[in-house]
Amino acid sequence: MRLVFIGPPGIGKGTYAKAISQKFGIPHISTGDIFREEIAKGTELGRKVREYVEKGLLVPDEIVIEVVRQRLSQPDCAKGFILDGFPRTLRQAEVLDSELGGIDLAILFYAPLEVIIERVSGRRICPKCGAIYHIKFMPPKNDEICDRCGTKLIQREDDKPEVVRRRYEVYLQTFEPVIRYYREKGKLVEIFAGRRAEEVIADVERVLREKGLVKE
Ligand code: AMP
Repeated sequence: MRLVFIGPPGIGKGTYAKAISQKFGIPHISTGDIFREEIAKGTELGRKVREYVEKGLLVPDEIVIEVVRQRLSQPDCAKGFILDGFPRTLRQAEVLDSELGGIDLAILFYAPLEVIIERVSGRRICPKCGAIYHIKFMPPKNDEICDRCGTKLIQREDDKPEVVRRRYEVYLQTFEPVIRYYREKGKLVEIFAGRRAEEVIADVERVLREKGLVKE
């Protein structure tokens, strides 16, 4: 089962990918995560991609494609995989089809920008112990104070509404050609993600069954 997951930052894609990956025993491959790990480890690849990733610019196709080529040749990908963050350009999508075995399905997760902003901008984290809260959906007992360690909660820079809005715009521009590519090939399924994660995940499983990608 070879899948591509597409969706804007804050839509919950990581949560859905984790659930589907565990349920069907296929790896969740995020090119962004791979790059961040390599940068943290200070490898040669990490040094090559650092500047792009830190500036939010696209890493050149040749580098990304090589990374994905190697990753997909690992034995754990034999039964399939979930690609997340790749392909991001038309060329990456074409090479995935022509040289890397192609995919069965691309799943696009969507929700109105306002829903994403409400979710993401309500998120608060504890700078000391890392606990995560949501002022509306999972509030701490005392106003903006961590239940676990009593530290004043903060909002991540990335979670501020104006930053979420900007990243959404960048997402739309970047992925638009890739979305069109899969739509034209009849390989795109769109799933509404403005609801509880369990419902979204159940819908993904329903689609996979309907497409004959998993047994009943
Ligand atoms: P992400 O976590 O998917 O937002 O990726 C973080 C960063 O890694 C991006 O802003 C890019 O700099 C780089 N990156 C990840 N995937 C790709 C890709 N498929 N093509 C080009 N650059 C990528």
